[in-house]
Amino acid sequence: MSLLPVEEAQARLLARSAPLPIEHVPLSTARGRYLAEPLVALRDQPWADLSAMDGYAIHHADLPGPWRLVGESRAGGVPPGDSLEPGTAMRIFTGAPLPAEADAILVQEEASAEGDRITLTGEGPGGVGRNVRRRASDFASGAALLDAGVRIGATQIALAAMSGHVTLPVRRAPRVAILSTGDELVPLGAPLRPGQIPASNDIMLAAMLAEEGAEIIELGLIPDRLDAVIHAFHSAAGADIIVSTGGASVGDHDLVAPAIQAAGGTLDFWKIALRPGKPLMAGSLGDALFLGLPGNPVSAFVTATLFLLPLVRHLGGASAPLPPVATLSTDVALRPGGQRAEYLRALVREGRVTVVADRDSAALRPLAHSNAFIVRPIDAPAVEAGGSVKAILLENGCFA
Ligand code: AMP
Ligand code: MG
Repeated sequence: MSLLPVEEAQARLLARSAPLPIEHVPLSTARGRYLAEPLVALRDQPWADLSAMDGYAIHHADLPGPWRLVGESRAGGVPPGDSLEPGTAMRIFTGAPLPAEADAILVQEEASAEGDRITLTGEGPGGVGRNVRRRASDFASGAALLDAGVRIGATQIALAAMSGHVTLPVRRAPRVAILSTGDELVPLGAPLRPGQIPASNDIMLAAMLAEEGAEIIELGLIPDRLDAVIHAFHSAAGADIIVSTGGASVGDHDLVAPAIQAAGGTLDFWKIALRPGKPLMAGSLGDALFLGLPGNPVSAFVTATLFLLPLVRHLGGASAPLPPVATLSTDVALRPGGQRAEYLRALVREGRVTVVADRDSAALRPLAHSNAFIVRPIDAPAVEAGGSVKAILLENGCFA
């Protein structure tokens, strides 16, 4: 069987699924989700011409003054009723509405007040509209503010709030069932007998998925017995995605493929042109998509980054579900690529990237010290130190 390029496997995987149904969530819980519809402004921002400084609202044509002081405008107050007469100035504070016909703000540092007489002490505002935030200069009611498919973070939440929204349309959070196969796996905190190891993949995947806002269904640690793996698949009802780790190559104890078929699912067995993480299974069981990742923790992380997270983002409504690829300068020379794309564990500092580990695909320590993958495409030419490389940047274990 020829090897499947990563990009083709990603395209095939995403083509199997569609974004989940739309629901409306409060802004306070929308973080990490994706807008399901374009965001449209429900109000003008600013709502009136506002002062950007503390000072005096004036007619620019009245410069260089002096002015007669006629009242005050504060943030939170209603706009002053009367228009500003020529030769007068109104005390005004940042965020307060301008009186009608005022067209500039004389900042308080450039003025002095004696009784109701204001005189210029500095240069004064350099033009009409200076130190004024015009009504609707940020956005006008009805304006398109964000496209559907955009990830919602702190700044998008602020924009939604200011534009008059209380909830946002998002896709239902994907429900992801996680199961780990392997007789050697022991739950966290349990005593280890010889031959046993603590299970780390399930909790790693759960941490990655939590960053994505996915709902997690823990199916637990499943021994390498066909009936046990079949039973685990049956208990994944209601999941949108079932992800397993381990048992993904064609060895004696590799039961995931026969189990999903026995449970009534379908399966493709893919050999990806990828290092680490060659074997990958993709299929379906009932309404759920199935993804079988390798057991090796680093391979599991790489394949979760390249396949599981994009699938979760796709179901969640992301318009760009695949990891973005940055171009960075490498601190170390890189040998030519081979028949499989390589994802080297790497560390990015100040725009330069260095390799943390490129060989041992099972080592968790360098993985935990990396914040990026250097991507070495199939047959990539050698790169000298200082040359450019492609990289996927990671934050909290997920791509940015
Ligand atoms: P497998 O794909 O089942 O052949 O597993 C490959 C390697 O990954 C073996 O050394 C396993 O012990 C290890 N491994 C499998 N599953 C896990 C897991 N859930 N957590 C940590 N290591 C695992
Ligand atoms: Mg195993």
